[in-house]
Amino acid sequence: MNRLFDALTFGPTRRRRSLDKQFRQLSEAYRSGAPLGGPEPPRGGLSRRPPASSGFGGPAAPAGPGTGRLLLVLAVIIVVVGAVLVGARSLSGSSRPAGIDGPVESFSPVPDEPSSTRPGLPPAGVGSSPDRLLPVVAFPPGRGGYAFENTTVTGGPVTWDPCRPITVVTRTAPGMPTSGDRLVQEALSAVQQASGLKLVQEGNSNEVPTAKREAYQPQRYGRRWAPVLIAWSDPKETPELAGRVLGLGGASRVTVTPPGEPGITGYVTGSVTLDGPEITQLARSQGTAAARAVVEHELGHLLGLAHVPDRRQLMYSETEFGVTSYQSGDRRGLAQLGAGACTPGL
Ligand SMILES: [Zn+2]
Repeated sequence: MNRLFDALTFGPTRRRRSLDKQFRQLSEAYRSGAPLGGPEPPRGGLSRRPPASSGFGGPAAPAGPGTGRLLLVLAVIIVVVGAVLVGARSLSGSSRPAGIDGPVESFSPVPDEPSSTRPGLPPAGVGSSPDRLLPVVAFPPGRGGYAFENTTVTGGPVTWDPCRPITVVTRTAPGMPTSGDRLVQEALSAVQQASGLKLVQEGNSNEVPTAKREAYQPQRYGRRWAPVLIAWSDPKETPELAGRVLGLGGASRVTVTPPGEPGITGYVTGSVTLDGPEITQLARSQGTAAARAVVEHELGHLLGLAHVPDRRQLMYSETEFGVTSYQSGDRRGLAQLGAGACTPGL
């Protein structure tokens, strides 16, 4: 049986740990009311200064008298890049002449709602409904076989809002498989079915994938959290795809803590970056199911799953050609990730 072995580097893990440390520093500073003494603002999709009165403005933003009446909002975004699937194939160099980098889409504009109480953030609850959009998925029988990328202080997983769709845009690129669009569509359908979270494709974007993607890009996507970006790329553009890595995936977590209220934490956007030439080669040598498995694996990271040491699960860190779809452990994890509370405050 063919197997693609893991060449997992620990770069993403280091980055995640570093960000978690910064998150803790921010949280501690928030609780104590002391200015944050860290060397730099939090990295990740969103790196903005809270209002000066919050005490987090850094050295250039001392708190001034009279500003304390402003609503204090602490918002921290941490980009989690957890995805690593690897392949041992050399790049084929195949190309795809189809249109790439089309015009910037005019994404459905968000109503011009003032958000003065959320400086630097989109209005709360954009696109959310009073109730969850899809039924909770029944927890598959059995136990274990999954792990979460992030958990809350109460021990449950950090989750997406089930009361609003997870919007997705796709960025095409030369070298992506000719079946690429279909692979993405089928993988999105699979993860929606397993999680009970609604994923909606909005079309193409010309946004270039980066390690520090902004979670809020009003100029490009309107006044809402940026949609999930599924980007076909290659190692030249995305160095993290070098070597045998087939894809990357993760979500951006945000915590908003209005004064006097409990913090609200959840995933608001994320990205999946795929090695087009290498997945093209994988599809040719092993079939489209193996290629689609890569996309499903990365979407598992997007929803909040971490790797597991169980080779029978799709969230194992290596490709196992007998495992081309979500297995029982993966499904137990995805069912939990889809059963979170609605978070209209995000
Ligand atoms: Zn992975």
